[in-house]
Amino acid sequence: MQRRTFLHTVSAPLGLAALNQAGLAPTTVRSVSASAIRTNPRSSVIVIGAGAFGGWTALVLREMGHDVTLVDAYGPGNSRATSGDETRQIRCGYGDRLLYAQSALRAMAAWRERERQFGVALLNPTGRLQLAPDWTPSLKASQGTLATLGVPFETLSDDDLRKRFPQMNPDGMGVGLLEPGAMVIRAKQAMLAVSQAFVKAGGTLRVARVKPGTVTGGRLVDLQTDDGSRLAADAFVFACGPWLPKLFPALLGTRIQVPGRDVFYFGLPAGDQRLAFPHFPNFSEDRYYGFASIDGRGFKVCPTTGPSSYDPDTDERVVTATELRRARAYLAQRFPSLANQPVTESRVCQLENTVDEHFIIDRHPEMANVLLAGGGSGHGFKHGPVIGGYIAKRALGEQTDADFDHMVRLAR
Ligand SMILES: Cc1cc2nc3c(=O)[nH]c(=O)nc-3n(C[C@H](O)[C@H](O)[C@H](O)COP(=O)(O)OP(=O)(O)OC[C@H]3O[C@@H](n4cnc5c(N)ncnc54)[C@H](O)[C@@H]3O)c2cc1C
Repeated sequence: MQRRTFLHTVSAPLGLAALNQAGLAPTTVRSVSASAIRTNPRSSVIVIGAGAFGGWTALVLREMGHDVTLVDAYGPGNSRATSGDETRQIRCGYGDRLLYAQSALRAMAAWRERERQFGVALLNPTGRLQLAPDWTPSLKASQGTLATLGVPFETLSDDDLRKRFPQMNPDGMGVGLLEPGAMVIRAKQAMLAVSQAFVKAGGTLRVARVKPGTVTGGRLVDLQTDDGSRLAADAFVFACGPWLPKLFPALLGTRIQVPGRDVFYFGLPAGDQRLAFPHFPNFSEDRYYGFASIDGRGFKVCPTTGPSSYDPDTDERVVTATELRRARAYLAQRFPSLANQPVTESRVCQLENTVDEHFIIDRHPEMANVLLAGGGSGHGFKHGPVIGGYIAKRALGEQTDADFDHMVRLAR
């Protein structure tokens, strides 16, 4: 695909320091002036799905000067989307998965810059505490990766944990790895802000459910909406998260699993802010994780169990008694001051898991102009601003990081 020379004429860079370092993001991301867009050739791209993968891709493509339509069945930030939950974490502790840790580090800088650009409060600098009975290989690997990348961290002994966090009972957890730079992102708000920025930049947003339409000569010509109308473009990005197996059952039906997850928010005792942001970090251990109370919502607890299969269109977003019991038992053990506190809010979300928890970002084997982007596997949200740049480049057939391409390939 022809490179867009007009990009040299454009104005203020957007998050370039962070994005360029990425090697995952286009070097061509710019805030493009209206006249530059009007007078230069561009590709038409339709991005299907306004979640973390598709929303950011559409925004970056538009900022590159392309003619972009973002289509979502339920609209940006919708409560069925995996990205439509209230909060998501960004951290660099990634075991031995250096490429994701690098991407997360770049994404942190990009999120900060975008937060400033959007003028919406999206980030809470919470920090993150990983707990384990001992220094597991994964925790050690995280330490190594954080050290390699120069990301600050602290290692805490049982004694340290007790002194530092008296509001937590660390029994059974001998060690802690604290990443003070980790943050919580207001996820739904972020997706709304991204789509607003996209529209402001001249992108077209449509609320419609679509599926692939006519295929000619190994290329997709158009999409078909539920009401039978057609949307044509040069290139298509299907960033449909947990819906991808439904849209492409033969290709992705077994590659992406969609289990459900219950998320609970427990009220803090009156007058007690010890487990509220900024007094306590995000925490995780083997089968549970959560966040301190943010915006008065309550202390977030997520058991990493739940139904093995979930339909994102039709299943009720109602938590189960089994998962509530699990969450309460955990609280009673680890955060005893919350043992008898009521649930103040709850959410039901679904994952889109690949077997190895690597994303899937690759061309459709039978449609050369179709890129599939998904498989967030419980960790995709944070990468949005960086992965959006990566997906944009892939959609345009531009060169990207070969190691990352290999990691997220379809055939594995
Ligand atoms: C409980 C839970 C906790 C998580 N915690 C974290 C975390 O702390 N940090 C982190 O980084 N990640 C986390 N994740 C993972 C992260 O949320 C996902 O990886 C990410 O949000 C996936 O984004 P997506 O764009 O692929 O999918 P989605 O956000 O689901 O977006 C897909 C969009 O496609 C649209 N769509 C689907 N089909 C069609 C169609 N046919 N036509 C038009 N539109 C369509 C949908 O309406 C939807 O809006 C978590 C996930 C869960 C479930």
